[in-house]
Amino acid sequence: MKKIIFDLDNTLLMFDENYLNDYGSVINGTYEDGLNLYNSIGKYERAVGLYIKNELLDFVNKDLNTNYSVDTFDKLLDVISNKWISGIPDGIEDTLKYLCSKYELYVLTNWFSECQSKRLKRVGLLKYFKEVVGTDKVKAKPNTDGYLYIIGDSKLEDVIMIGDNPDIDIKGANDVGCKSILADYRNKYSDYDNRITDIKELMDIL
Ligand SMILES: [Mg+2]
Repeated sequence: MKKIIFDLDNTLLMFDENYLNDYGSVINGTYEDGLNLYNSIGKYERAVGLYIKNELLDFVNKDLNTNYSVDTFDKLLDVISNKWISGIPDGIEDTLKYLCSKYELYVLTNWFSECQSKRLKRVGLLKYFKEVVGTDKVKAKPNTDGYLYIIGDSKLEDVIMIGDNPDIDIKGANDVGCKSILADYRNKYSDYDNRITDIKELMDIL
C-alpha cells in the first residue's frame, strides 16, 4: 500500500503565533506565563517524546514551579481544538481528494491526536485521512517510532513524508529511510532539493 504521511501545523493547517496568547488567558496569567508553559511543554517533548497527560503536567509544574490542574490543561486543549487555524492552503481539498485516490493518507503530528483530529474536522479535511497519529500514541518527531508505526508492512519506497520542518519532519523521514518533500510555502529553503512551495504541486508530482 502506498502511503503519504503529512505533518499537520503549517503543512495542512496554518496557524498564527498570536494564538500563543491563548496559553496565557487559559491559565489566567500573562502572555509571558503562557509562553513559559508553551516552552515547557516543548522541553517535555524533547526530553520524553511521548505525551502522557499527567506526566506532562507533573513535568511542567516542576519545571515552572506552578500548580496547573488537569482541568486547566483540558481547557487549553479545548481552546486549541476550537481555534488555532488561521487558514488552509489554497487548493488543499482538491489535492487531498486526488492523493486519496492513489495513496493512504496519514497525519503524524507532535501534539495530542484528538485535538488535532478536531481541528482537521472543523475545516472538513479529517475525512481524507486514515489515521491521525499524535504524540499520545508515538514518540514525537523526529523520533522514528511514528514513521515506523505508519509504514507498517508497506515498503519504504512506497512511503513519502510531507512537512514544513526540515529538522523535525524531514529529519525523521531521512532517519527511517523514506522519501520526503519539504512544504516550503514561505519559500525559505530555496536551495532544498525536494520541496514544494504550493500544495497543489503534489497533484503533478505524485
Ligand atoms: Mg509543522
